Amino acid sequence: AKPRHADLLDDLNPAQREAVTHAGSPLLVVAGAGSGKTRVLTRRIAYLLAERDVHPGQIMAITFTNKAAAEMRERVSDLVGRRANAMWVSTFHSMCVRILRREAKTLEMSSSFSIYDSDDTKRLITLVARDLDIDPKKYAARTLAVNISNLKNELIGPETAVADAGNDLERRVAEVYVEYQRRLNQANAFDFDDLIMRTVELLQTFPDVAEYYRRRFRHVLVDEYQDTNHAQYTLVRELVGTEENEAGIGPAELCVVGDADQSIYAFRGATIRNIEEFERDFPNARTVLLEQNYRSTQTILNAANAVIARNPNRRAKRLWTDAGDGEKIVGYVADNEHDEAAFVAGEIDALADKGEADYSDVAVFYRTNNQSRVFEEIFIRLGLPYKVVGGVRFYERREVRDMLAYLRVLANPEDTVSLRRVLNVPKRGIGDRAEAVIATYAERERISFAQALRGAVNGEIPLLNPRSAKAITGFVELMDELGEVVESGAEVADVLEAVLERTGYRAELEESDDPQDASRVENLTELVTVAREFTEFTAEVAGPDGELPEADPGVPEPGSLPAFLERVSLVADADSIPAADGGEDGDGHDAGVVTLMTVHTAKGLEYPVVFGTGWEDGIFPHMRALGDPTELAEERRLAYVAITRARKRLYVSRSMVRSAWGQPQMNPASRFLDELPAELVDWRRLAPSSSSGGFGSSGGSPRAATTWGSRGGGSSSSSRAASTSPFGKAWKDTVALKLDVGDRVSHDKYGLGTVVACDGAGPRATATIDFGAAGKVRLMLIGSVPMVKL
Ligand code: ATP
Ligand code: MG
Repeated sequence: AKPRHADLLDDLNPAQREAVTHAGSPLLVVAGAGSGKTRVLTRRIAYLLAERDVHPGQIMAITFTNKAAAEMRERVSDLVGRRANAMWVSTFHSMCVRILRREAKTLEMSSSFSIYDSDDTKRLITLVARDLDIDPKKYAARTLAVNISNLKNELIGPETAVADAGNDLERRVAEVYVEYQRRLNQANAFDFDDLIMRTVELLQTFPDVAEYYRRRFRHVLVDEYQDTNHAQYTLVRELVGTEENEAGIGPAELCVVGDADQSIYAFRGATIRNIEEFERDFPNARTVLLEQNYRSTQTILNAANAVIARNPNRRAKRLWTDAGDGEKIVGYVADNEHDEAAFVAGEIDALADKGEADYSDVAVFYRTNNQSRVFEEIFIRLGLPYKVVGGVRFYERREVRDMLAYLRVLANPEDTVSLRRVLNVPKRGIGDRAEAVIATYAERERISFAQALRGAVNGEIPLLNPRSAKAITGFVELMDELGEVVESGAEVADVLEAVLERTGYRAELEESDDPQDASRVENLTELVTVAREFTEFTAEVAGPDGELPEADPGVPEPGSLPAFLERVSLVADADSIPAADGGEDGDGHDAGVVTLMTVHTAKGLEYPVVFGTGWEDGIFPHMRALGDPTELAEERRLAYVAITRARKRLYVSRSMVRSAWGQPQMNPASRFLDELPAELVDWRRLAPSSSSGGFGSSGGSPRAATTWGSRGGGSSSSSRAASTSPFGKAWKDTVALKLDVGDRVSHDKYGLGTVVACDGAGPRATATIDFGAAGKVRLMLIGSVPMVKL
């Protein structure tokens, strides 16, 4: 049954209603956090289906995270049932993968292409740079990768980059870019930025392709428009069209929503230009402003408004709510990061005991992923259930990547980066030299690496010694065998089992004494579980007859290996990974767990209780931003995002001392704390009196005296001078650990390692330690080193 018109509009305010019902010209909704932008988008889709007789297949909705996409689909199917399935709701990247799978031939790629993530990209760029004799000290692979990515975000192709290069760096980058792109093509792979850039290229170069999509998608909706970059903007414009084309198809209806104050992806080329110029980009555009916030208390909103007001060059807007003032913000100054985590955990427990919040109402935010460890430790110790969203980097763990590389080679033998990754993993006697010989041969014969391996089997590569040739033959036979498992139509999980078994990968880990290897086995078991669930989930969506609601040529066969790899490649940060679940509380779905995540990941979400942690200059704002007004403005927007996630209670905390790289380091208070109006914050604990900080006095904010009238820096920095200098080291002049080469150690952060070198003496003593998967790290041995000798 169709929902009635009134049901869809009842619980909206007049401005929201206007945005939902507006028809015809392009529509921009701009508004602060929590004002219902996403709700408008979701509701608009429902309205289109229910009231404007739009078919679900004519709708394309773009969200920034997979999580938001899932939410939107769910909310829409609540409203219109299974019909929601024919609609495209996805991230920019998923949408492009779908289009590219369908149109790969047009771009002279095969539709079984691989998707390279940033790690693959860096590997390939390293290979290319080495082959081009580029000095890695002068041009690090990461620098090259960042520059190439920036070019792609600006839709600048390799030829143009070469032509436009004006200085040494640009010439080097362009040179690498050309070769990198050639090898991507050869490997039948796209990197993340390519997904967007090549889709734009496709639509711009082939009018009939563009026409197909323009005919199909008559409604395009984009959430978080402030975080689109130039390539994404162009993609939207190409999809929608700006005027009637020769075939008489007019532009599709476009609706975008965003908030310039929440633009936090400048490092990926996002630009608020796209919001500011919307009316110029899309003629006859209509703009709707929303001002009422439905999420937070007035206290929280005032705090958010006060912080963001410090940013220069922004359009002022006031958010209001009729939710009342609510609780004061709670502030806490901890001795160190462990004390901070203990405070957070204790507070969560207290709230739960008093029945004021469930665990699932609570989110803990930090600036960077590595800050999660301290919280995890104490939560585990106290038995406080939690999950870390994103940043678990489950898919970045070595063993998981190895397995995925095997699967990728099985799906696409031309995927050279993956193939070379697993060539000698586990060790099977194919050394670096043999690999280099194969690579050179492939290069010279202009064949793929996989083909060259077969050449080696047939004895076509004279430089190869017989032992290596034999090892390679074994490997090729192994891969052929595994290929047959895939061909036989086995489930992904069973393919994975076959790989673990027949390569000897699992056996090697199981025989190892290293406790890290035991956890690797667990992760692999987890990966098999993920694959199993994937198949089950697909079967569920497909229904008993095995048919998806609407077969779409852009989508790999449900449940297939390519479908699984695609799913895994596109797991954005916002996807939670069920790794931390002890399996104790049933299916564990939000069954009362605290959520830990970075502020970036929290965009678009809301929680009744939010802990903002690590508010220290050098942490948040990030060290990188301290001397750079543009970066600082971005960090402040991030603070605005953090504050506005909270519905009822907000906590902010910082710690006096935090260890970084094995060194205790004193960080001054975040300037964003200064920017919170003093009367909104109830400081539960101030700086400990023993510290050298100048603010141990009674009551008020630690910085209340300097808050007023201090505009971004200025007088507030003088108060900061009273405490230790930002990066002052607080170590004692004693050597805490005596180590020798060969000693085994256990480090809080890096795990088990072996000392491979010792340098310096006294306070300058350092040890270089091989932590296996975590790499080699050089550590100073003074102060309280978070490491013990075994
Ligand atoms: P953000 O900028 O953080 O993405 P947003 O503008 O997208 O926020 P929503 O997430 O859509 O805001 O809405 C915030 C909260 O307010 C949600 O819980 C939503 O259900 C609620 N809300 C939005 N509009 C209304 C309304 N008219 N009446 C009641 N609740 C509303
Ligand atoms: Mg939103």
